[in-house]
Amino acid sequence: PGSLAPDEALRARARKVIPGGMWGHMNVARLPPGYPQFFRSARGCRLWDVQGTEYIDLMCGYGPMVLGYGDPDVEAAAAEQRGRGDLMTGPAACQVELAELVVETIPHADWVLFAKNGSDAMTACVTIARAGTQRRKVLVARGSYHGAAPWCTPSLAGVTAEDRAHILHYDYNDIASLERAADEAGRDLAAVLVTAFRHDVKRPQEAPTPAFAQAMRRICDAAGAALVLDDVRAGFRLHIGGSWEPYGVRPDLCGWSKAIANGHPLAAVTGNDRFREAAQQVYVTGSFWCSAVPMAAAIATIKKLRATGAIATMEAMGRRLREGLEQQARAHDLPLRQTGPVQMPLIMFDDDQDFTLGHRFVLEALQRGVYMHPWHNMFLSAAHQVADIDRVLEATDGALRQVAASVDRRHPAKAAQ
Ligand code: PMP
Repeated sequence: PGSLAPDEALRARARKVIPGGMWGHMNVARLPPGYPQFFRSARGCRLWDVQGTEYIDLMCGYGPMVLGYGDPDVEAAAAEQRGRGDLMTGPAACQVELAELVVETIPHADWVLFAKNGSDAMTACVTIARAGTQRRKVLVARGSYHGAAPWCTPSLAGVTAEDRAHILHYDYNDIASLERAADEAGRDLAAVLVTAFRHDVKRPQEAPTPAFAQAMRRICDAAGAALVLDDVRAGFRLHIGGSWEPYGVRPDLCGWSKAIANGHPLAAVTGNDRFREAAQQVYVTGSFWCSAVPMAAAIATIKKLRATGAIATMEAMGRRLREGLEQQARAHDLPLRQTGPVQMPLIMFDDDQDFTLGHRFVLEALQRGVYMHPWHNMFLSAAHQVADIDRVLEATDGALRQVAASVDRRHPAKAAQ
């Protein structure tokens, strides 16, 4: 690896002109020291930081990259549209083509609206649900992330009690808590929000139980409320028709973003006919929401995901990684816990609350050319090939050896200082 000097110089400049040097989840102050903040380029499943150090990327830009950075088919479609126009005084024809493709691809969708970010999409879902039901209360799982708007942002700085006045909580996968929260909302229940699976940071991921997914539908139907699926993070990685298709549970409204255009800025709200009129009544818009290039990119992305079996590829690569890591953890006698869908893995160590082992592991992997995250789920893409996964496993084997060497075997969870 090169010296960190160019990255440090950029960080010093950034601290003067950007609050904290960087906002939000991409501030590497959240990661162990040694992670680069700034990147020079990206191609396929690889990233280069400003020092020129190359990494196999297991974060995929926190999800948007799904076919590979700079995917040639997506970029050709984007370039073609850019040649004709991107932001214009109204939408391009490709907006209708994309809407038709989305409605054809996603079984619950009778209509679609486009926006820019996941927060836009989820906020619009809440507004449409309230408009359609003429009610106020919204149920959210404790600890679930739905975005950075006042009604849902994890930091309470600048948030008023009024912003949260009609938000009630339940626990993911806990039907009794869901029923209690729905009872509390009573006849004022507008919507129940749920993420595709439990992917809260810093704790093991959980698939929804089939009974929980079915209870969601039953409770919403009984109350006349909207079931709102937040597929912003998992959408287009688990199932092309939406992450709850395998459960046979369809939402009334669903928020999408991240992978929908392979890294181009786009989000979507899909909904069924019950909420079509409400979607027409609410006022949603944004200066860049009709930009045509991301829509052309989304058409190419969705078509390629469908045509190439990309999701099956990601699953196969994820399984290869999970099984390889399982073997390595056994060989090094380390309590590695891998959770979540194989293509969206979270890798932590048991009894490692302060992430001593987790930080050591990801730093050792980073030094071996693999970019991982210690407590946020990671993402595989269709650009990760067998040889890349095997390179990752080479790095993790070396990293786990270092972690194992640091562990005091008399107190298995403790790293030697
Ligand atoms: N919902 C979920 C499940 C997310 O993971 C995210 C982004 N991490 C959001 C909503 C918000 O999306 P955005 O950051 O694009 O506003």
